[in-house]
Amino acid sequence: MKIYCPTCGKSSEEIPFIGEFCYECVTKKIKEEMPETETVYTCRFCERMNVLGQYKKVSKESLAEELTSLLKKHVTVIDFDKKKASLNVVCTVDGNKAKFRYDINLKWKFKTCQQCDRKKSGYFEAVIQLRGDKFLIKQMLYSIEGFVNANGAFVTKKEDINEGYDVYISDKKVANEFFAAYKLKPKRSYTLHGMKKGKELYRNFYLLRL
Ligand SMILES: [Zn+2]
Ligand SMILES: [Zn+2]
Repeated sequence: MKIYCPTCGKSSEEIPFIGEFCYECVTKKIKEEMPETETVYTCRFCERMNVLGQYKKVSKESLAEELTSLLKKHVTVIDFDKKKASLNVVCTVDGNKAKFRYDINLKWKFKTCQQCDRKKSGYFEAVIQLRGDKFLIKQMLYSIEGFVNANGAFVTKKEDINEGYDVYISDKKVANEFFAAYKLKPKRSYTLHGMKKGKELYRNFYLLRL
């Protein structure tokens, strides 16, 4: 049965329909209600972008995830640059699926991610104290840094002291994961260094004899 679009008068023989309106009129209306510009954030130091509150490498996938959340429509990114992004948008209109292309302007703004903020302020939760054989200490230092960086944490500082190295780590959970992964059993101790929301904050010390 041939139907006509109530808005533009085109027939269902000329153009596909979504429900009782033609494809063109439906997508035009959706596009008109979409913002022309979206603001996205990158960290000024590590250049990763904010994706739903987490920082990820800038990519089509990251941008698509963030824009899907901002636009409340499923979005894939065909291409993008500093100023704009070309998108494939999929959404549902009265139970019918509508798919269309949409170009959106991007405004990139800067923030500082928690990790960079902590790096800047010298934040650390754990100290690994390496003692013993100088050569083994150097090797262990290398392993620690690799593991910590690969697991979303960082080495705040390395202190070369006479009897070995003190390695400051931003995340005690990652420090513990390192010992588990390398099957190491350091001697543990704790110091109380403050309170946060009524909870005592501890710094963990791990003494490793090599
Ligand atoms: Zn129409
Ligand atoms: Zn950062």
